[in-house]
Amino acid sequence: MVSGLVFKNGYTPTGEVISFRTSNDDLANHTRVTNVVIDNFSHPERHLADLWVAIYGKNNHFDHNTLVNKRNRGVTLAVRLNSEGSEDNHHVIEYNYFGPRQILGANGGETLRVGTSHFSTKYSNTLIQYNFFDRVNGEHEIISNKSSGNIYRGNVIFESQGTLTMRHGHHTLVEGNYIIGNGKPNTGGIRIINEYQTVRNNYLSGLTGHRFRGALVIMNGVPNSSPNRYNQAIEAIMENNIVVDSDYINFGAGSDEERTATPIDSSFRHNIIMSKSNLDVIKLYDDVSGIKFAKNIINNESNVPYVLAKGFQKTPYLVTVNEHGLRVPPKALVDQISFGEIKLPISKPNTGANYYAKEEISIVFQSGKTIEVKSGTDTLLTALNASNSGDILMLENNGEYLLTKLADIHHPITIMAKKGKKPVIRSQKPSFLVIENGGALEVDNLWFDGAESPDYKGNNVIRTSGHSMNINYSLLVRNIKVTDLDINGYFDFFKGSYGTFADEIQLIDSEMSNISGGILVLNKETDDIGEYSVENLTISGNTFTDINAEVVNIYRGGFDESTFGPMVTVKNNQLTDVGNGSTHRSGASMYFHGVQDLNITDTIWNNSAPLSLHLSNGEPITLIKDVVMKNTNKIRANNTEYKTLNVVYQ
Ligand code: CA
Repeated sequence: MVSGLVFKNGYTPTGEVISFRTSNDDLANHTRVTNVVIDNFSHPERHLADLWVAIYGKNNHFDHNTLVNKRNRGVTLAVRLNSEGSEDNHHVIEYNYFGPRQILGANGGETLRVGTSHFSTKYSNTLIQYNFFDRVNGEHEIISNKSSGNIYRGNVIFESQGTLTMRHGHHTLVEGNYIIGNGKPNTGGIRIINEYQTVRNNYLSGLTGHRFRGALVIMNGVPNSSPNRYNQAIEAIMENNIVVDSDYINFGAGSDEERTATPIDSSFRHNIIMSKSNLDVIKLYDDVSGIKFAKNIINNESNVPYVLAKGFQKTPYLVTVNEHGLRVPPKALVDQISFGEIKLPISKPNTGANYYAKEEISIVFQSGKTIEVKSGTDTLLTALNASNSGDILMLENNGEYLLTKLADIHHPITIMAKKGKKPVIRSQKPSFLVIENGGALEVDNLWFDGAESPDYKGNNVIRTSGHSMNINYSLLVRNIKVTDLDINGYFDFFKGSYGTFADEIQLIDSEMSNISGGILVLNKETDDIGEYSVENLTISGNTFTDINAEVVNIYRGGFDESTFGPMVTVKNNQLTDVGNGSTHRSGASMYFHGVQDLNITDTIWNNSAPLSLHLSNGEPITLIKDVVMKNTNKIRANNTEYKTLNVVYQ
């Protein structure tokens, strides 16, 4: 037995922090790991993969452990089935706390995986019960089941982006789990692929995820599928589940030219669905005659597809909060499906290592003290170096600030001036401000000017570290002026470097002009395996004038389907003479490659290069509405899978 160890302030030099073996042949059997903590024991290279826990052998017990803040690629806990000595293992994984995991922005951010596609027909027979998954947002598979005969029972998944996915393997039982989204974006439920999967007596509430991330999903398969693709759903059972205030229940999901095998010999019965947030909560992607729908209950407002009407009984929408704080349908209905008491099967305090606090770590701007910074040379740098996380550096309204060195940002910091005249900041270095690992930046009511910048190509005002950053950052830019970034070519406002990832970037109410590069350069993840640089981006209320390259260039290449972003909102902007630079490569004023959710509204293009879209897989949602393009070429796109409404060319 191993107990009481804490792993922090470091990372494993091998591929596994805790390994249930000493060599390929010496596997652990009948062992127990309990009350162990692994906290941010993350490799500094975010794209480098390792496992925190790899369970091999048979009859091992992993319980009451705390696994929080994994920040690099790789599954948090994996049950490995790569040899006969690890098959039919009867491991028990229970009462563990899987704490917050940040968005990875790539495949490989699963929290729990049991098996791999290669061994997926083998029986693992692992029991996963009474674990608490708290805001594990790595990617869209929170739990990836990839072997046969496993049971997931009584787990709680709280405000987590993603789903419990039966990706490979057969004969899985998923019962009595509580998945609570509280309306958070991309929160999903339970997804069936493969044969003989049973999903019953689960409670799902406030889940917003769509497509593969619906509250309940049965997918289409690939005929004669290879092990790593999608087996047809055969004898899938979804019954006695309660779905409250959730947006999507999808059948035949993933239907396309390859995934043509519809579910057969399956059933969806005795489920209660109470939801008004999307009245078309049930969505059919293909022929679902192979699923028998019977005795389900759904609220009157919801539209049930005509072919399924007989399988649903309508009832008024009635949801109340019960004594356990959960949103529940009327008791009479709950009793009708014999669901029992609606109550979390395990509470957060009863999971994880009992001695280790479940602390919150988040970026909180303006949570520290305010530091007045006098006008002058490197005064800003001195103040920054003396600051602490969350502090505000308050500049003088009439101030002129010069930086003669790079200003590195190592913690969340706000640089701003009070309402009134914007202080001007100039720099003699190729970058003004550099966000380093752990850093985050908010700027408000400032003026950045390029007049003192060195006569090199490729300067920028703000960039992220040249080294990989395993902590996600945020960049909030409000009410600033940017002028004359033209001392040489390719002078950008902001550049996100390779191996760095933003949870959020906002560019709001700002005015930028005379720039020899671009404004937001987010195209450095060029490996074409689904990696990208920013999750949520908002560009709103700005004017851009005489910009050589793009206002925004986002790149997410490849066909990977395991992430959510980027999600982009562009509204109320004016572009004049943008993207017409002679050395400008994409020839676009804005370039979006592989963006998953793009909403452009109320924006005016004037004498600018066209908006350019590259829509890739994942059914991206793209809407361009109420925009005017004066003396600007038509929207360029690789296909027509985007919506336009009131796009006026003049
Ligand atoms: Ca994955």
